[in-house]
Amino acid sequence: MSTNNIDFDNLTFTFTKTRSMYVTKCKQGDNWNSGELVPYGNISISPASTVLNYGQGLFEGMKAYKTEGGRILLFRPEKNAERAAMGCTRLSMPEVPKNVFLEAVKTVVKDNSDYIPPTEKGALYIRPIVFGSAEGLGVAPSTEYTFMVYCSPVGPYFKGGLTPIKLIVSTQYHRAPLKGTGGVKAIGNYVPGMLPSGNAKKEGFAEIIYLDAAEEKYVEEVGAANFFAVIDGKIITPELTGSILPGITRDSVMHIAKEKLGLDVEERRISIDEAMTAEEVFCAGTAAIISPIGSIKYNHKEHIFSNGDVGPITRELYDILTGIQYGNDRDSFGWILEL
Ligand SMILES: *Cc1c(COP(=O)(O)O)cnc(C)c1O
Repeated sequence: MSTNNIDFDNLTFTFTKTRSMYVTKCKQGDNWNSGELVPYGNISISPASTVLNYGQGLFEGMKAYKTEGGRILLFRPEKNAERAAMGCTRLSMPEVPKNVFLEAVKTVVKDNSDYIPPTEKGALYIRPIVFGSAEGLGVAPSTEYTFMVYCSPVGPYFKGGLTPIKLIVSTQYHRAPLKGTGGVKAIGNYVPGMLPSGNAKKEGFAEIIYLDAAEEKYVEEVGAANFFAVIDGKIITPELTGSILPGITRDSVMHIAKEKLGLDVEERRISIDEAMTAEEVFCAGTAAIISPIGSIKYNHKEHIFSNGDVGPITRELYDILTGIQYGNDRDSFGWILEL
């Protein structure tokens, strides 16, 4: 397979298949072993598998970056391994050990390194997935699990890159309740968002903002990205209550804000009314990177934060984060794993 027909100058966040993917399986009660690289392609699965019937599965999302000089960098991959392991436990699946997870990711990235876009044009998006692959009729954990890693070159998640996006608060749907599975990347968390998000897109919004399911008052997340507000020069992000996904970008932004920009960072509940008073608002995630929010519509009012300009703190955080990821800036945090 060749990368000749990939237009690296006009990448979007869509799937492009690559040369190979990684597969390994594990019977319930056994240990995970290293797997193998196979050509990218379809897999065969029982219609009675627990993943197809009960959604027993999770995914991870991470990126490999190419530097100016052609070096290949992963960003905090051990954090994805830890989060996947936590998710496995929550979903009654055997934890994929960190070394198996990291080995699989590195193997896939190395074998598909020609699919990594040139520096700053995008990245190779990496998708580790774990799911119950054996058949079972009753609602009970699978007797066999599959761990796979595939990848795709991607560009910006939101059209236009670092241009402020328009959001609308969902008043009819919630993403995740307290004590549910919002804190892990369970596959079942994402399909319920397709309807509200699709409706919002039809109305010209880039995504929706979810409020907490208990009081319908506090900001939770922006689709599949974490929410941030700059208020009185401080960085505020919703605290992790269990319904919010603990983003690795979220954690990185907090470190950069505190340790590089010397800003106060508060993890606490933030009401939608308070968010509307912010100087700057943005969302953050591996796919979204840091995306400035230009406006938020809530009930019948639309609050404009920006008419196209990117706030100075948002821009600084973006520059520092992407500077580290693309290997332009010194990685004083020790976040980069070079292949
Ligand atoms: C993956 C994800 C995020 C972002 O997490 P990162 O580790 O920064 O990519 C935020 N919210 C949800 C719901 C997610 O699924």
